[in-house]
Amino acid sequence: MKVRFMGAARTVTGSCYILEAAGHRFAVDCGMHQGNAEIDKRNWDVEAYDPAGIEFMLMTHAHMDHAGLLPRLVQKGFSGKVYLTPPTAELLRIMLLDSAHIQEMEAQWKGRKGLRHGEGDAVPLYTQKDALASFARFSNVNYGEPFSPFEGLKVTFRDAGHILGSAMLELEVTEGGKTSRVVFSGDLGRSEQLLMEEPALIGQADFLFIESTYGNRDHKDDKRSLDELAEAVAYSYARGEKVIIPAFAIERTQEMIYSLHLLAKEGRLPADMPVYLDSPLAIQATEIFRKNRKYLDRNFKALLAGGEDPLSLPQLHYTLTTQESMEINNSRGPAIVISASGMADAGRIKHHLRHNLWREGASVVFVGFQAQGTTGRKIVDGAQKVRIFNEEVLVKARIFTINGFSAHAGQSQILDWLGHFTTKGLQVFLIHGEYGAQQTLAGLIRSRFGLEVAIPDYLEEVTLEAGLVTERVAHPEKAAPRIDWDFLISDMEARFAQLRQRKGQIEAKAWVEQTELRDRLIDANRNIAGIISEI
Ligand SMILES: [Zn+2]
Ligand SMILES: [Zn+2]
Repeated sequence: MKVRFMGAARTVTGSCYILEAAGHRFAVDCGMHQGNAEIDKRNWDVEAYDPAGIEFMLMTHAHMDHAGLLPRLVQKGFSGKVYLTPPTAELLRIMLLDSAHIQEMEAQWKGRKGLRHGEGDAVPLYTQKDALASFARFSNVNYGEPFSPFEGLKVTFRDAGHILGSAMLELEVTEGGKTSRVVFSGDLGRSEQLLMEEPALIGQADFLFIESTYGNRDHKDDKRSLDELAEAVAYSYARGEKVIIPAFAIERTQEMIYSLHLLAKEGRLPADMPVYLDSPLAIQATEIFRKNRKYLDRNFKALLAGGEDPLSLPQLHYTLTTQESMEINNSRGPAIVISASGMADAGRIKHHLRHNLWREGASVVFVGFQAQGTTGRKIVDGAQKVRIFNEEVLVKARIFTINGFSAHAGQSQILDWLGHFTTKGLQVFLIHGEYGAQQTLAGLIRSRFGLEVAIPDYLEEVTLEAGLVTERVAHPEKAAPRIDWDFLISDMEARFAQLRQRKGQIEAKAWVEQTELRDRLIDANRNIAGIISEI
């Protein structure tokens, strides 16, 4: 059996693992790569996936970093089944259409910009038509009901407790008369999550592919997270400004409403502070949550049964249209705005940040993991200004990072969950995490459990056989092509030398022209200073 790591290898986005076993080839997840322009290229060039050669997919859950590339692969020739739980299917029907809509809008925007620059039209990564074509591939499976996509493979989905319908996968692969047990943790839920049940426990595996997003830290407890949210609300309310909460449209958004509902019950949410759920997906997603309540946490079900609706607030407004969304920014006075995307690099949240980041008294509350390269990460890391819609926006708002709302297990919970495996010689592969966090976690797993741990890189291949890793092939040049810094820097130095040589010519120009050149040089200088300060 061979596993190839197509994403979420030493990073958190682009989850996709292609398995070859018993003459068949299939994928676990098919996520979108997110980060900077360079990482984005991986979404465009999908040849390495060989989409037509993937027979079927096992989809762990409806987050875009696990399922967002599906329409692209369908467009490029994937025509097999996609196995998923019924709530994952329902959520993906709205999520993928929304994602396609964003792709189409961005292409239109780039197209207009391109035309202004004399370039051609921009093509979207995929369209709503591609998304609809993906839905035809869906095939529902339930937790705990094994099925067999081909002879020699048995698959069981189990509740991962991460978001509605999320799954971890247990695979039994039989090749040459020998059977190996392979487990993919998917994204592993945090055990105290408000809406989700605890992640299922699995006792047996020969090979475990486990997520490691929070491999280097634990979350603060829930009570403190609620306190911090209350603090952000009080801070901006007192200053007549807004609280902006970037949140994934599913799960995190519902958890935030639930949390605000709890604050309101405790009298910590001012009744005259409107809450806007500025995401057209929100109503639909919330309805899907209500409809699938049997998958949710028992306390939540108890509240519903008692006639209380934890997913509502008296001052909650849904803003569906772009017009309504823009009106939020025209209105002054305190308010709370929950909007997507969760990492602040797409969707309506970008407008809210552009309007509020520079305002003293406003708050931005990050409640989810921010991947390297995203706008959210830059703000969390303390950037003084960020680029939004090609404009530098100062960061004057107060920034809160509340990871206690995370939908991911923290370090101790990952280790606890792993501790339930009893197989001797279990081999562990860390996926879905940044390298530093993975190294910390790997050290802990080795010392605590004495297990073998590998941290595969992007495009790496491992060959597994009846409890043994027989080969690992890395492609460092393809995974992270070398950047010629020496050339880049000496090229710049040469230009500065030219500039110095031409100083006389600059001084000979008309004064107005000189002032313009001066301003451009000051800009360039500031740009370089910014780069240096970020290093
Ligand atoms: Zn997830
Ligand atoms: Zn994920």
